[in-house]
Amino acid sequence: MSAKPAGPGHPLGSGCEWGLREILRLDRVEAARIPSPAASRGRLRKALPTREPFHIICGFRSHSTNEYLRTHGGGGVAARSLHLVGKAIDIRVPGIELRKLCRTAVALSGGGVGIYPASDFVHVDVGPVRTW
Ligand SMILES: [Zn+2]
Repeated sequence: MSAKPAGPGHPLGSGCEWGLREILRLDRVEAARIPSPAASRGRLRKALPTREPFHIICGFRSHSTNEYLRTHGGGGVAARSLHLVGKAIDIRVPGIELRKLCRTAVALSGGGVGIYPASDFVHVDVGPVRTW
């Protein structure tokens, strides 16, 4: 399976490399860290009134993918993104309005939360508590 850098027009619409390699690396990183994006996702899961699966737009991001997105994306990609160390995840949840997902994540005070309406996802990380 080859990972395909995403950009405008990518079916996932997020600007993130998406492939089995990335998913597996995210799982390995998550298993080694507490707190983790998985833990944040679990807390969000309990706080949301839905059983729909989360759509993970981006988890772990390699340096090359991050640099590609920084230079080819529409902005908002940090040079030292927490995606690089497996501490961030970009998600959407079917049936949950993006602002509600964002407000719920912010209320949990588990780290950083950013909303990206144009790309239809919310960024959640386990860094310092902050919003954008
Ligand atoms: Zn993100």
